[in-house]
Amino acid sequence: MTEHLHDCDVAIIGAGPVGLFAVFEFGMLGMSAHVVDTLEISGGQCTALYPEKPIYDIPGFPRIAAAELIEQLRAQAAPFEPVYHLGQQVARLERDRAAGRWRLATTVGTVLDAKVVVIAAGAGAFGPNRPPLAGIEDYEGKSVHYMVLRRQDFAGKRVVIAGGGDSAVDWALSLAEVAAKVHVVHRRPKFRAAPESVARMHALAGEGRVELVIPYQLAGLEGADGMLDAVIVADLDGKSRRLEADVLLPFFGLAMTLGPIADWGLAIERHHIVVDPATCTTNLDGVFAIGDVATYPGKLKLILTGFAEAASAAHAAYPIVFDGKALHFEYSTTKGVPGGT
Ligand SMILES: Cc1cc2nc3c(=O)[nH]c(=O)nc-3n(C[C@H](O)[C@H](O)[C@H](O)COP(=O)(O)OP(=O)(O)OC[C@H]3O[C@@H](n4cnc5c(N)ncnc54)[C@H](O)[C@@H]3O)c2cc1C
Repeated sequence: MTEHLHDCDVAIIGAGPVGLFAVFEFGMLGMSAHVVDTLEISGGQCTALYPEKPIYDIPGFPRIAAAELIEQLRAQAAPFEPVYHLGQQVARLERDRAAGRWRLATTVGTVLDAKVVVIAAGAGAFGPNRPPLAGIEDYEGKSVHYMVLRRQDFAGKRVVIAGGGDSAVDWALSLAEVAAKVHVVHRRPKFRAAPESVARMHALAGEGRVELVIPYQLAGLEGADGMLDAVIVADLDGKSRRLEADVLLPFFGLAMTLGPIADWGLAIERHHIVVDPATCTTNLDGVFAIGDVATYPGKLKLILTGFAEAASAAHAAYPIVFDGKALHFEYSTTKGVPGGT
């Protein structure tokens, strides 16, 4: 694998909302950032799990769709010219003690040489829980999708949704408005989603706008060249049905594992990185953790908490990046942003 080496002040692991805001906070203090994410797009859970849902507890926004928040965060980070390395996982983190720097290596050969590292890895690298169907890899990304980015992509399509949780039910409700046909396959008669949403889905089923295929589970795929013709489902007695389909959306949750992060010598408590809440420093010099991945007594896993942690980490990282230089605190109103008016 060819390696591509980049120098930067701060390497940020995770392009979720908190990683993106860290670009801004570090940028305001004059530190350049490279950002790595396993996903092909930025936004972390906001993009992967609930892009079209409104969020109500972002200060200053009475209501903002998750995808719109990510767009705004990217715009806020843009003046600091972050470099994004998407679709790759940070696999290794090593200390170059002599140089006082950190080296991160990703799964596709990107190597970042950074003065400090900020781990904003959320609940860990995302990966869908894949149904064990023969040949499913051939369809993934073409007609089998584990997340919905734009519901318009499914307009006029015959959609099979599999799963019994919030994602399955919420997308059934949403796609019923645009798709030609929506089947919801679940192996139990009872759904685990919010009761109000489940009631709405049953109402749609009553009107014939959604068809519930319960209790059934996925058994096979039919199609060619990655494009589905039908999804085969079977009940617990092995009786099968063939559902004509253009698209399968299996929503069996995302496997979120800390993955390689757990092997870097960080103090970990129940899959979270232990930090000092005042600075977000970890037990490794020059390595910070912020957002959902960071833990301390009383931690609230909220986006706004992560934003504040990004600011704390940037202030604590400043003397490391600038060799002991004291930080002269200034408000953004005083400093402005590059290219700002
Ligand atoms: C349905 C739902 C609704 C929610 N509603 C709200 C709400 O109303 N208000 C609120 O404040 N919060 C809400 N949350 C929680 C909120 O989304 C999280 O607190 C927030 O996303 C945490 O941001 P983060 O940047 O820390 O992590 P994440 O959003 O989890 O992003 C972390 C990113 O790091 C990447 N990553 C991990 N490990 C690696 C690695 N080794 N290499 C490369 N990349 C890696 C992941 O792929 C991921 O993209 C909700 C969550 C869900 C699921």
